[in-house]
Amino acid sequence: MNESSRNVIGYIGVGSNSGDPVRNCLEALNRLGACDAIEVLRRSSLYRTEPVGLKDQPWFINAAAEIRTALGARDLLSVLQAIEERMGRIRSVKGGPRTIDLDLLLYGGQVIEEDALCVPHPQMHKRRFVLVPLCEVASFVIHPVYGISIRGLLERLADKSAVIPLDAGAATR
Ligand code: ADP
Ligand code: MG
Repeated sequence: MNESSRNVIGYIGVGSNSGDPVRNCLEALNRLGACDAIEVLRRSSLYRTEPVGLKDQPWFINAAAEIRTALGARDLLSVLQAIEERMGRIRSVKGGPRTIDLDLLLYGGQVIEEDALCVPHPQMHKRRFVLVPLCEVASFVIHPVYGISIRGLLERLADKSAVIPLDAGAATR
């Protein structure tokens, strides 16, 4: 098998809390699927999520997607960052409001620890707003560092912040 025919299953976390967050998340997923060498296999529901860390900011919309890609992990991160930039993401306050955030959560079973890229994403196992959507598309996938499934991580999670399916929140939106 040559390099270009290699295919890896990966998982992407999507988040937004400025502008029109629902539209931003859906647009980012569409742009991802429109890229050469990236196929979006499944996407989770959208969730309304309480900010973690910097609390004084609007709630987020979060989702996760399962992809198949012929790109290496670094090229995939570059694609995610290019989509963020083209959608007008401004990096101002660390952890603050953002038009769109695309994180590479898992890339096959690989573990990568570089300055610009850590996979699995170093915070994913601690965050309900990542694990709840991810569990919809990857419940039995094993986290390659902890050796526990995504469902198992979610069951053990200390983070109790609110993660509400968008449809369930219709009355409070
Ligand atoms: P965060 O998502 O942590 O709120 P950013 O999206 O601004 O913050 O990401 C900051 C940096 O994180 C990026 O410049 C990128 O190089 C780095 N990074 C490291 N690992 C990953 C990953 N798995 N997915 C996305 N970005 C990553
Ligand atoms: Mg990010």
